[in-house]
Amino acid sequence: MGVVIMIDPKNIRWDELTFSLTPTRTMFITTCKADGEWKSVPLQPFGNISLSPAACVLNYGQGLFEGLKMHSHKDGKTFTIFRPQENAARLAYGCERLCMPPVPKELFMEAVTAVAKDNKDFTPPYNPNSASQGSLYIRPTVWGTAPLLGVAPSPEYTFMVFCSPVGPYFKTGFKPIKLKMLKEYHRSAPGCTGGVKAIGNYAGGMLPAKKAKAEGYQEVLYLDAVESRYIEEVGAANFFCIKGNRLITPALGGSILPGITRKSLLQLAKDRLGMVVEERKISFEEVFDSDEAFATGTAAVISPIGLINYEGKDHIFSKGEVGMLTRKLYDMLLGIQHGLEPDLYGWLHKIE
Ligand SMILES: *Cc1c(COP(=O)(O)O)cnc(C)c1O
Repeated sequence: MGVVIMIDPKNIRWDELTFSLTPTRTMFITTCKADGEWKSVPLQPFGNISLSPAACVLNYGQGLFEGLKMHSHKDGKTFTIFRPQENAARLAYGCERLCMPPVPKELFMEAVTAVAKDNKDFTPPYNPNSASQGSLYIRPTVWGTAPLLGVAPSPEYTFMVFCSPVGPYFKTGFKPIKLKMLKEYHRSAPGCTGGVKAIGNYAGGMLPAKKAKAEGYQEVLYLDAVESRYIEEVGAANFFCIKGNRLITPALGGSILPGITRKSLLQLAKDRLGMVVEERKISFEEVFDSDEAFATGTAAVISPIGLINYEGKDHIFSKGEVGMLTRKLYDMLLGIQHGLEPDLYGWLHKIE
């Protein structure tokens, strides 16, 4: 096991964190044969792991990941993870799609809880200045780790959970982002793996994202792979737009990742703001005609969209500012996560 230097959490400058890795104290790592059972193990120090150059995950991408966040509450002593059971279910479903033995929900919860608890002091404290509000990002992975040469499911698997304190996903914080909409690149297609967090879904987006960033945009807005007409996702975040009192997001059809933030916002908008929520196809023409737009994800939280560029033309939302309903949804979600608002749905998993 390689040695990785751990920073004393007392020396972390919480306000300066970005969305990048800060090594923490411990991680969870266990293995399982293809026809075996996943086993619980004690935590180990966070460090490098060793794999065969012929490991299935490295050569054929048999692997997936999850992302969760632990938030600190205003009282400074309560720590909660947002909806981890949802991640457990999504990970198990993803394992089935990639021919990997599903990690049982109970083991997922045990591993995530143990890592969160042992690294609790790495959680950024609650900061009412929400633009730089940090959290402890928890990253579970499942990989096919046995060596093989032909394309086939790995005979052995590794389930790992590590964590890192993080700051805002977009350097802009809670400020509107600018997106470039493209029809020459796609993220996924019907029948592909876009609906699960398969590691193979992400490298293909690096080139379009790099090109968009070179032109001053933060991310790419992807269209469907069949007609290049309907909105899919924003990089690794789900897309929403608002027209009047209607909150609209693309329907899940197998190529869009079923985000937990997405699911939570649909419920909050309907129950708490009395909005009409619609999950359906949205053409780019319809998006250009909407009042507000934003991207959502555990990492991105709610990122307001100020501008979308398509074929050389800029389309601006809420005058390039944060829209009123976008802000309401953001305050409500962060309020629940940081214990400022009641947890009416039992979404918070407390870490003692
Ligand atoms: C993780 C992810 C999301 C957001 O999902 P959350 O559960 O809200 O974090 C959206 N799109 C893609 C492609 C993702 O990988």
